[in-house]
Amino acid sequence: MAGIQIAIDGPAASGKSTVARLVAARLGGFYINTGDMYRTVTRAALDAGLDPDAQPDAVVALLGNLELRYRLVDGVPVLHLNDQPVPQEGIRAPEVASQVSFVARIPGVRDWLRERQRETRALGTIVMEGRDIGTVILPDASHKFFVTASPMERARRRLAQAGEVTDGATLASVAAEIAERDRIDSTRAVAPLRPAEDAVHINTDDLTPDQVADRIVACVQEGKA
Ligand code: C5P
Repeated sequence: MAGIQIAIDGPAASGKSTVARLVAARLGGFYINTGDMYRTVTRAALDAGLDPDAQPDAVVALLGNLELRYRLVDGVPVLHLNDQPVPQEGIRAPEVASQVSFVARIPGVRDWLRERQRETRALGTIVMEGRDIGTVILPDASHKFFVTASPMERARRRLAQAGEVTDGATLASVAAEIAERDRIDSTRAVAPLRPAEDAVHINTDDLTPDQVADRIVACVQEGKA
């Protein structure tokens, strides 16, 4: 299968990343995580001492110093910032999670990232996950999915991921953080989180990542979605 594009969108902690990675492996495609790109810009803004909510213009100005690209390393796309692989610890930190939605609602940041996300199509078959992939980034994607889970299930999954939540976090505090991020992501003016009209919806509450990936792969192979 050459050059197909699979868009997987959904809210925070819905299980998209695990599933998208599995789908890419099963279809022999390349996995692209656009959330990591927003997180990397957020990390750079925080490291530069910026407050993304209060200083959106300064965040956009910072982009002039950044070169952000997926590059193939041993055949796997790895996100690079200024020629260095982006370390996961830095972009998964709780302070990034709490600020990333402010960065992602800056139109100049979205414009800048849009082209960098679209250029990954040159790799061949791609499985791209995010919030606006089916609606804005790849509106002509061959296959679109919208993956959800209930707020409590998402909080439970996020709490189980070491390193992504602050020490002492509880199910209630994680649920509140996720709900706030979803609120900002779905109410922003530019490219809000929402399903594409032609997306297949999958509620993952009672499904394992393998089962969700099976469903997506079956849809792709049957030419649905
Ligand atoms: O997918 P993840 O939760 O890592 O994404 C982090 C944040 O990046 C989201 O909460 C959202 O603010 C932003 N994002 C976005 N559009 C995308 C991917 C992520 O606005 N396509």
